[in-house]
Amino acid sequence: MEENNKRTDVNELGEFGVIEHLTRNFALNNPDSIKGIGDDAAVIDIGDEALLISTDMLVEGIHFDAAYTPLKHLGYKSVVVNVSDIYAMNAIPTQITYSIAISNRYSVEALDDLYAGVLKACEMYGVDLVGGDTTSSPKGLSISVTAIGRAKKEQVVYRSGAKPGDLICVTGYLGAAYLGLQILEREKQIYLEHPTVQPDLDNAAYLVESILKPEARKDTIQYFHKNNLKPTSMIDISDGLASELHHIAKQSNVGLFIEEVNLPIHQETQLKAISFNIDPLTCALHGGEDYELLFTVDSKDVEKVKYMPDVYIIGDIVEKKEGLKLHSSGGKIHNLTAQGWKHF
Ligand code: ADP
Ligand code: MG
Repeated sequence: MEENNKRTDVNELGEFGVIEHLTRNFALNNPDSIKGIGDDAAVIDIGDEALLISTDMLVEGIHFDAAYTPLKHLGYKSVVVNVSDIYAMNAIPTQITYSIAISNRYSVEALDDLYAGVLKACEMYGVDLVGGDTTSSPKGLSISVTAIGRAKKEQVVYRSGAKPGDLICVTGYLGAAYLGLQILEREKQIYLEHPTVQPDLDNAAYLVESILKPEARKDTIQYFHKNNLKPTSMIDISDGLASELHHIAKQSNVGLFIEEVNLPIHQETQLKAISFNIDPLTCALHGGEDYELLFTVDSKDVEKVKYMPDVYIIGDIVEKKEGLKLHSSGGKIHNLTAQGWKHF
């Protein structure tokens, strides 16, 4: 045993530091374990194909606030965030297991609502619910979902395959979920102070839906497969674009260059950010929970991605020594720092 009288706060290491620390003594010993910790999903060799496995937890008070999160949406989202990690490996999700810890505040009817959302997501993404676990909790609701998927072994895309000269692409718009959350938080504060005031969510449907009911990019993966396009690296955007870019750069051992003017920010995100006095760029770079895909492609595939629906080319991969840089619309070059979402 290690010496036990030192107490290290988990905040000293941060989320990724804690994961690295706890798993430092684990090696992959079975020959069929192709990829373990460190990508969106683990990859297991099952012959011609690979099996993909990913797990994510959602905890009340940390990942969702029961005051403004409809349980049906929560059920839907809890599946979406997991299948998103399977798509991020260029694979197709096929099954989920679903585990819950519930306090007695949750009635059977409330859990029916949660599972109505789970069912809807299972139908939407074509996955079967094949198991799970149910237990009580002293407080609140915790959800743990495992998603399983499949891909041809040579089709699996890792975070580590980007190389200088590749183009950096994202699907959809960035930053909307973060602002949706700010809107809901603000309405909650108003409600707590003035319980008779009705929430003002007019014109906020797009932003609020982005946080409460995101979708995973099934369409993007289907497009890749149909058009024989294989990204060189990929990750889903759960912690914010900047944080995910750092993962790609670190694991691919490269640098990168992002053009601010090319970042896809929806007009409603622009307008709401300005009304909240937040820089829209901050929302796009550091707002989390977009569940869009960030991927890189070889420059020979530029024509294929140029005409892809809903895909934006935001920069290039460069040599590692050039670092991670953002070319701002004002013409300056900044270091791209990662903030991400801190849950500790
Ligand atoms: P994502 O954001 O794609 O869901 P995470 O950042 O949660 O991925 O996790 C990063 C990697 O660390 C993943 O490979 C995940 O499986 C692994 N991981 C996270 N927590 C633990 C843990 N407590 N023990 C072992 N592996 C973990
Ligand atoms: Mg992920």
